[in-house]
Amino acid sequence: MERRDYYEVLGVAKDASDNDIKKAYRRLAMEHHPDRNPSPEAEERFKEASEAYQVLSDGEKRKIYDQAGFDGLRNTGYSGFSHMGMDDVFSSFGDIFSDLFGFGSRARRGGPNRGSDLQYDLILDFKEAVFGTERDIDVERLVPCEACEGRGASPQSKVSRCPTCQGRGQVVHGSGLFLIATTCPECGGQGARHSEPCKSCRGDGRVRKETHLKVKIPAGFEDGMSLRYQGQGETGPRGGPAGDLYVAVRVRPHKTLKRDDNDLILETTIDMVHAALGGELKVEGLEGELIVDVPAGTQPGDVITLRKQGVPNLRGGNRGDFHVVVRVEIPRSLSAKQKELLAEFAGRSSKKRRLFT
Ligand SMILES: [Zn+2]
Ligand SMILES: [Zn+2]
Repeated sequence: MERRDYYEVLGVAKDASDNDIKKAYRRLAMEHHPDRNPSPEAEERFKEASEAYQVLSDGEKRKIYDQAGFDGLRNTGYSGFSHMGMDDVFSSFGDIFSDLFGFGSRARRGGPNRGSDLQYDLILDFKEAVFGTERDIDVERLVPCEACEGRGASPQSKVSRCPTCQGRGQVVHGSGLFLIATTCPECGGQGARHSEPCKSCRGDGRVRKETHLKVKIPAGFEDGMSLRYQGQGETGPRGGPAGDLYVAVRVRPHKTLKRDDNDLILETTIDMVHAALGGELKVEGLEGELIVDVPAGTQPGDVITLRKQGVPNLRGGNRGDFHVVVRVEIPRSLSAKQKELLAEFAGRSSKKRRLFT
């Protein structure tokens, strides 16, 4: 479809008020809404009108369009709706429908309601997160009732059609503008009514139960990440699908090590003689002692890196590095002998001395 001027699309004048624009869009949206008028042509008209409305109802966008047209908008990153599928148009435009019409943009899928998602907070030690671990967790959640197999009706129950939705499982509302269907609140989408609700679950089809789950944390996991277990959340009422379980991981800090992505950082202090002369230094890594080669002439703040001694990569591949940040300690008190030796040392290397005693 050829691109038409937004004012022309809505059939309003260039100086139309916000209210005129809203009214014009409301009329067009009702006429071409795909739930009322399912044809490719109507869909195009609906998208075109929605895009025009999105631009002209936004002061900023409207100004740019008035001054620089479609190209001006494109330069701001706005790409409109023409390339989008209808679902994307609705999801990026959804709130406007509630504003304009007082209800959501589109019918929801029918059938029983899905259960809620659950979150389980798991606290791990630093090392467990670095190398991965397995945990058994207990989660209390709603599961299908065994007595009625999740239907919510006792076995002797007689089934009749739900009077609220006439057995369709959905009810339609929307005061004649759009027809919006939602899950029937009476039967929860089953479309059926049971003469005797199940006694174990009081007709809900679900019971609360503690369930066990083995959770595998992969190596390289970090504080704040979570794992998703599909279908391990609450079961939906009366046979509805289950939500998901999110295991949210918190990691306890380590007493000496810090983590930066896949690198580990350790601060350590050596005395000035070892900094000057260099030598081997033992430090405590995650898996035990590590030997660090301190080069002669090491300066305060120097970083010595041990390659591939850090955190395993979550997605496989190389381990990170282990960085040792060296602090150098200057003695606060010296014996007479030490003073003498240092003075002698200073005398030998006095070419650049700036302090005199
Ligand atoms: Zn039951
Ligand atoms: Zn119903």
